[in-house]
Amino acid sequence: MNTSEIKEIKGLLSSPKKIVIIPHKNPDGDAIGSTLALYHYLTGLGHDATVITPNDYPRFLKWIPGENTVLKYDADTELAVTKIREADIIFTLDFNHFSRTGNMESLLENTDTTYIMIDHHQQPDDYATYTYSDVGMSSTCQMIYHFIEKLDDLDKVTADIATCIYVGIMTDTGSFRFRSTTSTTHSVIADLIDRGANNTAIHENIYDNNSYSRLQLQGVALKNLKIIPEYKTAYITLSQKELDDHNFKKGDTEAFVNMGLSVEGIVFALIFIENKGENIIKISLRSKGDFSVNEFSRNHFEGGGHHNAAGGKSNLSLTETIEKFISILPSYKNALNP
Ligand code: 5GP
Ligand code: MN
Repeated sequence: MNTSEIKEIKGLLSSPKKIVIIPHKNPDGDAIGSTLALYHYLTGLGHDATVITPNDYPRFLKWIPGENTVLKYDADTELAVTKIREADIIFTLDFNHFSRTGNMESLLENTDTTYIMIDHHQQPDDYATYTYSDVGMSSTCQMIYHFIEKLDDLDKVTADIATCIYVGIMTDTGSFRFRSTTSTTHSVIADLIDRGANNTAIHENIYDNNSYSRLQLQGVALKNLKIIPEYKTAYITLSQKELDDHNFKKGDTEAFVNMGLSVEGIVFALIFIENKGENIIKISLRSKGDFSVNEFSRNHFEGGGHHNAAGGKSNLSLTETIEKFISILPSYKNALNP
């Protein structure tokens, strides 16, 4: 996003506008943090702003400031459609293809408005009037900070905005450890704490809210963990029955995939989760170093994301999906075990 585009956006935002802000389906900490940070910023400027998520999000995000104002497209469809049709500006955050919004895809495709994309995933589409894309960024939340900085408005970052941005940087960097975490990321975090983000409270709200059944489900996932040493690969499966037996709620399996990646020597980890409701196997992929899970998922599992963290899906059964996965691995032998 260059200086003249920033000037144009500043011009657009100089009078009150109707604005809708949309994250990807199954929103995570970065998606909810970035949309609500922008919501607070724009509301503070006097705009009529609304966050519309494609669907609901996990309980561990249901304390973030402003969260109670969020419309869910699948539950609040009528109001959401009206807001989208009437919007002067639609921000799309933390995704870069309309297909990532699930059932909202065709509505967004057919809505004629000013789109502004802010996102850090690879291979962005070109639907937006203004695109701020940076695949090197830790998180969309960090980009929201830099966006406000570019608009010369850091003095308008309230404690609520600082809290929202902190959440997304923390969750997308695995608490400041992934390689997208730079010294700039830490400078931003330091400034957010100075502006009122309570780091200890945020960590507790996000991470210390286990239910007993979720911990038991984590035990099942660990039991199901398989290691394939010759490919430095680890994978976990969870069947619908295993989820049902442990009172599964959205978000309960968040970060389970990292348990595979924590095994000594492993560079590629996956979790395959059966979803009988959607009739798919949802796949999360993670890697360390040079192996691109973005490419792997794009090529074989209809997904994508980042170099070291991606998602995907399969329409086969759980057993068939694992068979397919195992049959693909040998063609990556050199990439995985050079
Ligand atoms: P997760 O495994 O946590 O669902 O996703 C990991 C990363 O990949 C996140 O940044 C997420 O936004 C992205 N991602 C997940 N699923 C998909 C997908 O189907 N397509 C694309 N392009 N990105 C995805
Ligand atoms: Mn993100």
